Amino acid sequence: MNLNKNFFNLEESYLFSNVAKKVANFKEENPNADIIKLGIGDVTLPLCTAVVEELQKAVLEMGKKESFRGYGPEQGYDFLREKVKGYYKEKGVDLEVEEIFISDGAKSDIANILDIFDKDNSVLIPDPVYPVYVDTNVMAGRKIEYLCANKENNFLPLPTKDLRGSIIYLCSPNNPTGSVYDREQLKQWVDFAIENSAVILFDAAYESFIEDEELPRSIFEIDGAKKCAIEFCSFSKMAGFTGTRCGYTVVPMSLEFGGVKLNRLWLRRQTTKFNGVPYIVQRGAAAVFSKEGMEQIKENLNYYKENARIISKALEELGIYYTGGKNSPYIWLKCPNDMGSWEFFDYLLKEANVVGTPGSGFGKNGEGFFRLTAFGDRQNTIEAVRRISDLSF
Ligand code: PLP
Repeated sequence: MNLNKNFFNLEESYLFSNVAKKVANFKEENPNADIIKLGIGDVTLPLCTAVVEELQKAVLEMGKKESFRGYGPEQGYDFLREKVKGYYKEKGVDLEVEEIFISDGAKSDIANILDIFDKDNSVLIPDPVYPVYVDTNVMAGRKIEYLCANKENNFLPLPTKDLRGSIIYLCSPNNPTGSVYDREQLKQWVDFAIENSAVILFDAAYESFIEDEELPRSIFEIDGAKKCAIEFCSFSKMAGFTGTRCGYTVVPMSLEFGGVKLNRLWLRRQTTKFNGVPYIVQRGAAAVFSKEGMEQIKENLNYYKENARIISKALEELGIYYTGGKNSPYIWLKCPNDMGSWEFFDYLLKEANVVGTPGSGFGKNGEGFFRLTAFGDRQNTIEAVRRISDLSF
């Protein structure tokens, strides 16, 4: 019996366990320290009332013979796919229901989509970025080329003439850098993908944080994208579904390679390996798109966005370079005084009792940078910012 040896090529990620260990040690040595965590990438506000009410109704339906449901369609119920279609329509994107696949969150589909691509494809992944893109390709034994995201390109790498790759990952708004591609930049990637017969895997998990109407919230707002892109989206950050689990993936009918529609391959993959998202959860997700649901999630999103503004404003006053903070829940800052990522982590923990995430945990180019998030409590965010502003760098 042979194991998948590619697993041995995975780099151990000690990022969050190291953060937790360091915080626990500090707490042991300083039991009275009031530690504020601005490192978390998870939401903290509860599900909105419109969603909770729909979830409760669906639970009751499941308890009655007349309305009980067993296995549902693997690609999701039409009542939710129709709502997603309507959501895209508002962004000016026309989709067919068959192009929308309901998932249990973006992470699974981002990983599972690789089933439909041959191992011998070259892969382009930005550095720094959400680590799942790298690890899933390492598990499959693919070769990865990194797209350097850095201060010079505002953490938004663009295609160059000599670049080659068949599978391209883009994440906008980006985790961890908070950077957002504009239309012209995304058009460059779409043109590149079409010219190179490549596919773009576009992660739009944070699209709901985009406020600037000039910025695209879907790659399908860009001409030609339906011929070269798959988009992954999620209710996690948009509506607090990180623990409830629901998302959606769009595979356009016009996306073909060698005359084969990727939509058909993905449908075959999903109907074989996935049995759908729970009916109850899909009912809750559909409520996000109701009038009340939209108003209520906007209130929660505005809460996080205001936290992001508070953090960004303080960094501006301190003269610290950062990206994100606008159109994103993430603030990605250059560690002051050329400190390394972990050096700054230790400094901030010791001097301000504030916890963030070292940028080096997201890729080589993250060294010297640091991620703060807007998902915390308002008073804690204000207090953390006050303490950071009081430090002498
Ligand atoms: N994509 C990015 C960029 C993320 O940061 C995350 C979660 O943090 C996900 C996808 C996963 O989202 P989900 O909860 O829908 O699986």
